Amino acid sequence: MSEFTNVAEIFGSNVFNDGVMQERLPKKVYRELKKTIEEGKELDLATADVIAHEMKEWAIEKGATHYTHWFQPLTGVTAEKHDSFISAPNVEGKVLMSFSGKELIKGEPDASSFPSGGLRATFEARGYTAWDCTSPAFVRQDAAGATLCIPTAFCSYTGEALDQKTPLLRSMEAINTQALRLLRLFGNTTSRKVTPSVGPEQEYFLIDKAKYLQRKDLIYTGRTLFGAMPPKGQELEDHYFGNIRQRIAAFMKEVNEELWKLGVTAKTQHNEVAPAQHELAPIYAEANVAVDHNQIVMKTLKMVACRHGMQCLLHEKPFAGVNGSGKHNNWSVTTDDGINLLDPGTTPHENVQFLLVLACILKAVDTHADLLRESAADVGNDHRLGANEAPPAIISVFLGEQLEDVVEQLVSTGSATHSLTGGKLRTGVKTLPDLTKDATDRNRTSPFAFTGNKFEFRMVGSKDSIASPNTVLNTIVAEAFAEACEVLEKADDFETAVHDLIKIYLNDHQRIIFNGNGYSDEWVEEAARRGLPNLKSMVDAIPALTTDKAVALFERFRVFTRAELEARAEIQYETYAKAINIEAKAMIDIASKQIIPAVVKYTKSLADTVNAVTAAGVEAAVQAELLSETSDLLKETKDALGKLAVLDRKSESIPEGKELAHYFHDVVVPAMAGLRAPVDALEMIVDKEMWPMPSYGDLMFEV
Ligand code: ADP
Ligand code: MG
Repeated sequence: MSEFTNVAEIFGSNVFNDGVMQERLPKKVYRELKKTIEEGKELDLATADVIAHEMKEWAIEKGATHYTHWFQPLTGVTAEKHDSFISAPNVEGKVLMSFSGKELIKGEPDASSFPSGGLRATFEARGYTAWDCTSPAFVRQDAAGATLCIPTAFCSYTGEALDQKTPLLRSMEAINTQALRLLRLFGNTTSRKVTPSVGPEQEYFLIDKAKYLQRKDLIYTGRTLFGAMPPKGQELEDHYFGNIRQRIAAFMKEVNEELWKLGVTAKTQHNEVAPAQHELAPIYAEANVAVDHNQIVMKTLKMVACRHGMQCLLHEKPFAGVNGSGKHNNWSVTTDDGINLLDPGTTPHENVQFLLVLACILKAVDTHADLLRESAADVGNDHRLGANEAPPAIISVFLGEQLEDVVEQLVSTGSATHSLTGGKLRTGVKTLPDLTKDATDRNRTSPFAFTGNKFEFRMVGSKDSIASPNTVLNTIVAEAFAEACEVLEKADDFETAVHDLIKIYLNDHQRIIFNGNGYSDEWVEEAARRGLPNLKSMVDAIPALTTDKAVALFERFRVFTRAELEARAEIQYETYAKAINIEAKAMIDIASKQIIPAVVKYTKSLADTVNAVTAAGVEAAVQAELLSETSDLLKETKDALGKLAVLDRKSESIPEGKELAHYFHDVVVPAMAGLRAPVDALEMIVDKEMWPMPSYGDLMFEV
């Protein structure tokens, strides 16, 4: 890579994007494909053959030897199986490079070992990947050479979604249909398509690879299971937006270049709050592209970190005691002709539409707060949500002073006659005010905040796919739009009906609005008084997937069937139990084989010292005191280890699913904390030379 980068030149150079398609595909084929992309029209095999051939030729020019159907099973990460382009040798022993339309459109990975929650019996292990032509194919260059990656959806033989993408695409259709229906009521006849736009801000940690390799907890679980706080944490607030050190800067430069080649609009980078923590944000894109791009971002961060002798930690809580990582999911709804439904607008007409959209979103979030919370549930995120650093586990909406004031006026008097910031209003329609863009201060403690022309859903975990939060958002808002349309389509006087509906929705769902400090204990109490759900952990959140309310919602918009939802709940429980089991086993392993032996050595060296010093006729009181303190903690460690081992083993006798997940949450997690406490205390006493792994300070400050 050259020292100076011509971004315009490399941007999208490895993407089979619209420009490439126009250039390389015959006009008729291009038009057919566009129809498929834009209208979902089925692609015939002859057309697919032409596209596949051109895609292959293009990929080979980029050095590709293989292609893969790139998909997102319910493991949270992407999956791929590589096939080379070669065909069987001809009589002269030469191979040709071939890639058919059939191979482009459909793949059939042996899918029996992906989580299916019982949807696909193992004897019927067939799963299909189907090309998602709305997300462009790309060539990825890495140590494996170059590979043509074809974004796909992954379904069972009977059509049930086994992945993250299928429901997301279904939810995008739902919101498209319902938003268009709503827009038509407001006299919009020109917009043809409405898509959710998403911009995810990705947080991550970077640590030195050599140190990483000395931490078995990081290797097995992605987070530290032991570790005393270093003398310095994040209290000086000197890292956030601080100077980016050269080693990190070189890493970021290469990450950007790799992402730009893949058409990912890496835009913003900065240091985050915790030491060794950073953030990368792209420019927002259509939801399904944003989901794919975020997967590419996570993979690229990991890959480039390796090249720079570092390890990228995407876990939500790699270190106790400093901030964890999240992924702020910025979401808005935009028409194909550039209207953002979440833009307050400047004319009264837009204003009414905006207020209705806003009222619908408040209604949706209030009605389905449990689902939204569940969509951000993941094992690592349990350390963030509810802890005093990330949005609480309680869903509430932050509107900003001005909007909240408008809502309050509408609710209390039925009309809003003034605006907090704008002085006199230009009222046009009824008694609704003009709104200026939200100018109020940011509230960083809100899980769902209005930020000018989008909502920022801040609960999502750094490691998690953003597919399910967006699937839920799209669907719950589609439902609220549909219900509003059902009322408004019947109304004789549209203006009065809209006005009344906004008032009713705001009235009924005002409890979800909260502009105060979401981290405070008072809010927890206040939220309980308001009757808002507080689903503290992942296991508490999972049942939200299968309530009658959720099933009715998702079935109505054909996003999930009941069976698919039940399968997903099952997978979540299994994932939770497995993850905690691995953490418990890793703790047992590290404590037994590394920590206890190290402490034993330390006590021996102390005992030897006590003897030697005493023999020399000098009092060894301090050494003896250290020895007894260390021995006490060692005993505590040994006891806690024994307890954890017994409890973890007991899990084998508990039936899989909900019961097992709860067992791990209620019984094993506290036992893990019980082991960690004496070990962290020991780390503060034992000679650093003898401690068997790098400390928090080594990991966070020596990158
Ligand atoms: P911050 O919240 O850190 O101040 P920004 O608000 O500028 O940063 O943007 C954060 C993310 O939100 C970026 O990925 C950006 O592209 C995205 N974003 C900006 N506008 C929209 C929008 N209308 N819809 C969805 N995402 C958006
Ligand atoms: Mg933001």
